Amino acid sequence: MSGIVAIVGRPNVGKSTLFNRLIEKKEAIVDEVSGVTRDRHYGKSDWNGVEFSVIDTGGYLPASDDVFQKEIDKQVILAIDEADVILFLVDVKDGLTGVDQSIADLLHKSSKETLLLVNKVDNSKLIDDSNEFYSLGFKNLFCLSSINGSGTGEFLDLLAQKLPKEDITVSDVPKFAVVGRPNAGKSSFINSLIGKDRFIVTDVAGTTRDSLYTRYNQYGFEFELIDTAGIRRKTKISMDVEFYSILRSIRAIENSDTCLVLFDVERGFDSQVQNIFWLAAKNKKGVVILVNKWDTVSKDHQTSKQIEEEISSKISPFSDVPIVFISSLTKQRIFDAIKVAMKVTERRNYKIPTKKLNDLILPIIEQKPPPSIKGKYVKIKFCRQLPTKYPQFAFYCNLPQYIKDPYKRFLENQIRKNYDFSGVPIDIFLRKK
Ligand code: GDP
Ligand code: GDP
Repeated sequence: MSGIVAIVGRPNVGKSTLFNRLIEKKEAIVDEVSGVTRDRHYGKSDWNGVEFSVIDTGGYLPASDDVFQKEIDKQVILAIDEADVILFLVDVKDGLTGVDQSIADLLHKSSKETLLLVNKVDNSKLIDDSNEFYSLGFKNLFCLSSINGSGTGEFLDLLAQKLPKEDITVSDVPKFAVVGRPNAGKSSFINSLIGKDRFIVTDVAGTTRDSLYTRYNQYGFEFELIDTAGIRRKTKISMDVEFYSILRSIRAIENSDTCLVLFDVERGFDSQVQNIFWLAAKNKKGVVILVNKWDTVSKDHQTSKQIEEEISSKISPFSDVPIVFISSLTKQRIFDAIKVAMKVTERRNYKIPTKKLNDLILPIIEQKPPPSIKGKYVKIKFCRQLPTKYPQFAFYCNLPQYIKDPYKRFLENQIRKNYDFSGVPIDIFLRKK
C-alpha cells in the first residue's frame, strides 16, 4: 500500500495546480495504457521511488471565494481522518487570512503530520513575504511555486520521509475490499457471508483504525475482507456522502488484491459507481462487479444480459470483468461472488512462462506488425512478463516511442485472448532493445 497525502487550503490558493503537478507523470502513464479518463481529484505520485496517493480535497468544493467556512472545515476534518500527511497550502500574494488561521487551528487540534506550503512564491523576491506565515505555528514551512515548479523538490524530500513505510505484514491469503456507494448493500453482503457465527471470524492483528479487517475461513474459502461499510454511521460530520465514501474507499482499495464493486441494481451502474470502479482499475486491482438486490428485480431472460451490456459500455475500454448477480438479502450467489473473486486473484498472480509467451505473440506480431511511422519500421524482438504483483508485460524493440496506444491495446487483447485475465488490469510497456 502507499501513503495518502491530502492537499487542503482555502479556494484559489493553488491546490489543484499543485495536485496536477504532483500527478502529472503518473497519470500520463495510466492514460496512455488504458485510455482512462482522469479523475481530477485523486491520483498517484511518487518521489524518488516512494509512491503515494494524492487527494485534492478542494476539488470537491465549489470554486468560489465565498465558500462557507463550514464547508472548508469539513474538508479539513475529513483530510485529517483519511490522510497520512497533510499539505496545507496558503497564498503568498494574498497573505495570511482568517480562513488560513482557522484551518491551522483545526490542524493543530489533531496531531496529523502537516507541511505548510506557501504557494505562488514565483521568484525569490517574494520569499520575504512568506515570513508572516510562521505565525501559524508549523514547524515545516516551504516556499514554492506550483505554476513553475520551483521549491517543490524540497518539500517532497521531507514528505517522502514522513510517509508510512511499506506495509510489511503481508497477508498469506487474498485480500478483498468490498466497495460501493452508501446503501448499496455492502454490510448486508458481509453479514450474509460471515453471519452471526462470529467464531469463524478472527480480527486480524494490526487492524487499521477504521477499516474492518476480518479473516474468513470456511467451506474451503480463506480470505481477508476489508470492509468500509458501516463506518460512515459513526461519523458526526454530515456531508457529501459520495465524497466521503470515495475517500473511505481509497485506502481499502489500496490495501486489497481484488475489489468487489457492489451496486444496487435499482440505482444502476451510475457515475458514482463508475468512479469507484476506476479507482480499483487505476490501482491495478482485480475487479469483480456485484449486481446487488437482484431479488428486487422483475426479470425476464433478457434482463441480466441487458445489464451486462450496459456495464460493458460504461467501463470501456476495460472489458472482460466478471459480473455476478447477487442478493445479500436472500444470499443468492453470495458464494459464487467469492469464488469468482478468488479466481480473479489467482489470475492476477499468474505468470506466463517467457518461452510460451514469445511462441504465442511473436508470430502474431509478424502477421500484424506495428504500423510504420515516417518510413520507419518498428521491430519487436521479444517480450516477457515482469516479476511484479500484477500482470505487466514488456515488449522489447528498436523504436519503442513509435508504438501507439491502439497497437498496445492490440497486444493486450492478444494476451487476453489466449490467457484468461478476466477482471485483471494489465500493463503493456515498450522498451528499447
Ligand atoms: P485551488 O482553488 O486552491 O485549487 O486553486 P487553483 O489551483 O485553481 O489556482 C487558483 C489560481 O492561482 C489559478 O489562476 C492558478 O493559475 C493560480 N496559481 C496556482 N499556483 C500558482 C503559483 O505558484 N503562482 C502563481 N502566480 N499563480 C498560481
Ligand atoms: P451499505 O451502506 O452499502 O453497507 O448498505 P446496507 O448493507 O446497510 O444496505 C442498505 C439497505 O439495502 C438495507 O436496508 C438493506 O436491508 C438493503 N439491502 C441490502 N442488500 C439487499 C438485497 O440484496 N436485497 C434487498 N431487497 N435489499 C437489500
